[in-house]
Amino acid sequence: MQISAYTISYALIYLYDFMEKVEVEDIIYADTDSIVYSIPDGEEDPLENSIGDLKRMNPVIISVQLKLRGDEGGGVQVIVDPQAQTEVEKLKRTLELRGKRMTAMQKRIEILENVQRELDRRIGNLQAEARVHQAVIEGLQEQTNRDADVIDFLHKEQLAYEGSRLCSVCQYRYDSAARTPHVLDCGHAVCGPCLDRLIIPPPPNQTVDLVLRCPVCRKIVYVYPARSRVVFSMIPGVLPVPPRDLDI
Ligand SMILES: [Zn+2]
Ligand SMILES: [Zn+2]
Repeated sequence: MQISAYTISYALIYLYDFMEKVEVEDIIYADTDSIVYSIPDGEEDPLENSIGDLKRMNPVIISVQLKLRGDEGGGVQVIVDPQAQTEVEKLKRTLELRGKRMTAMQKRIEILENVQRELDRRIGNLQAEARVHQAVIEGLQEQTNRDADVIDFLHKEQLAYEGSRLCSVCQYRYDSAARTPHVLDCGHAVCGPCLDRLIIPPPPNQTVDLVLRCPVCRKIVYVYPARSRVVFSMIPGVLPVPPRDLDI
């Protein structure tokens, strides 16, 4: 409190120096930090050179005309210069307009902020949706890969099946007539005409069993003269002995 009082006291003393420069009758108003005074027509501003010490904030110069109305029992009539009045009105309107513009701008900012919040919310929703879609796409991709594996497997199986229906030598399809499949002891099969061609001819006047070399695995297999579907394997180069219990 004491420091504050001192400061105000100092300011008053400081201001008093300026007040002394102005004619006392010209001072209209003074407080702790400002002074309002009139400058008679044709005279210089007594504080013109003190601007650096005493800042004149937004000076509004309004020409006023004072007229004594002594004949009506005293009193002062203040007549404000009509041009100054117009200026003040203009200034008021400008300020009003600015105020309205500020309010409109404030509203626009509020609207834009709301739009921004709504867009953020929608973006958030879309991002969440996109994540779900991504997960679905990944799931479908995995399923597609599995399906592709299955299709690949089935395709190979089909090829194997198709292959098993063709004679491994002539590549004709087996049938139930001339091209019946003959399964050799090694597990491979050939058609009837190919079996005939594959049989290794026995030496003349010898009643040995017929043999052939499997066209797939190159094993020597035994063929009964009756051309049984079943033959049995043997060590390559050694003529086979048919099993005794086989009914030929
Ligand atoms: Zn064949
Ligand atoms: Zn074979």
